[in-house]
Amino acid sequence: MTYKNSSENCTENSNEISDLEKVELPDRNGWFGEYGGSYVPEQLQKVLDDITQSYEKIKKDPTFIAELRDLNQHYSGRPSPIFYCKNLSEKIGGADIYLKREDLNHTGAHKINHCLGEALLAKKMGKKKLIAETGAGQHGVALATAASLLGLKCDIYMGDIDIKKEHPNVVRMKILGARVVPVSRGTKTLKDAVDAAFEAYLKDPDSQFYGIGSVVGPHPFPMMVRDFQKVVGMEAKEQFKEITGKIPDNLVACVGGGSNAIGLFTAFLNDTNVNIYGVEPSGLSFKDGEHAATLTLGKPGILHGFKSYLLQDKNGDPLPVYSVASGLDYPGVGPQHSLLKDMGRITYVTINDKEAIDAFFELSRTEGIIPAVESAHAVAYAVKLAKTEGKGKNLLVNLSGRGDKDIDFIIEAYGKNYDC
Ligand SMILES: *Cc1c(COP(=O)(O)O)cnc(C)c1O
Repeated sequence: MTYKNSSENCTENSNEISDLEKVELPDRNGWFGEYGGSYVPEQLQKVLDDITQSYEKIKKDPTFIAELRDLNQHYSGRPSPIFYCKNLSEKIGGADIYLKREDLNHTGAHKINHCLGEALLAKKMGKKKLIAETGAGQHGVALATAASLLGLKCDIYMGDIDIKKEHPNVVRMKILGARVVPVSRGTKTLKDAVDAAFEAYLKDPDSQFYGIGSVVGPHPFPMMVRDFQKVVGMEAKEQFKEITGKIPDNLVACVGGGSNAIGLFTAFLNDTNVNIYGVEPSGLSFKDGEHAATLTLGKPGILHGFKSYLLQDKNGDPLPVYSVASGLDYPGVGPQHSLLKDMGRITYVTINDKEAIDAFFELSRTEGIIPAVESAHAVAYAVKLAKTEGKGKNLLVNLSGRGDKDIDFIIEAYGKNYDC
């Protein structure tokens, strides 16, 4: 493995996966091997450099660390538990399935982990307003929550179509005191909301902070969001040892942008006997426009200011994507995942809509846990894997969120197939 563009920060010559944590990734320009970086206009680059510098300083500041730890514990409810799915495991008759319960966090998903970190950083930098785009509204709600707590203003850009589709989250953001700014141009969905939010941000980058919703975007966001999420895997490693006496044989997480996955995986990247699986949505089929399996079917390209695997047409423009899980519906993916794929450290697999919905009901009815339809993709793959791994092995699934947000849609679209 050669680290293109990343020689400055490498303290040793690394050819081994076991060096993953010793080689501080990304390098100081935000490269994960050939992925990541920062493809932005000069004006924005200055703003990003400023954020990078502040973050580098603050992440070693004991006050910041203590404040974030306190919020994680007393506000979000960390550490989130690990739960052994006895009923499901016995029903399958294979490997033991455990869940890391990120669904139990305040606001119901892992996103609060990085939103609190970003909001706290923004506040320390003297910013007055958080700004972001949202698709399904999950990121918008988590960021609006953090803004409310820390006394910051919050503008969330959202496409007209998404505003209609995701009514409960729109209402939540408004109740939390955020301004939801409708975007009526172009596709009226996520991609145009990103463009609109970036334009608004550039008008006043001094008093605003752009809170990105996953391990994507230009440097330093893939690094920073990962750092705020890695608490998931660090906790899980300790908890799993306490419960079983060892670390997991297998890890499974769904991959949209890749934040919940990298959050669980980071603590285990050097444990080469742990098999790691990232689950992408294959939606309705593997045809263009009917899935969002970026690492499985994409090729390296540039979108939203960074280089990574991308679902793209011949001109390098992003292809339309689809998944029943709107949180997985993104044509790009975090740059570190692209590197980990090329290195062969993580295996990226797919689960389609039908398999995810089956798993949604299966977990609900065997364990009394309604998963987010995003997380149901990870559960679906875990069920398959439990069969092939067999008895005596185990696997740990990141249950990234709870399914309350999905129930109306799922009952309407699929209820009658599942006796409801
Ligand atoms: C947003 C979301 C995801 C996908 O985002 P990642 O950055 O890939 O983690 C997954 N699960 C839930 C519950 C989400 O809200």
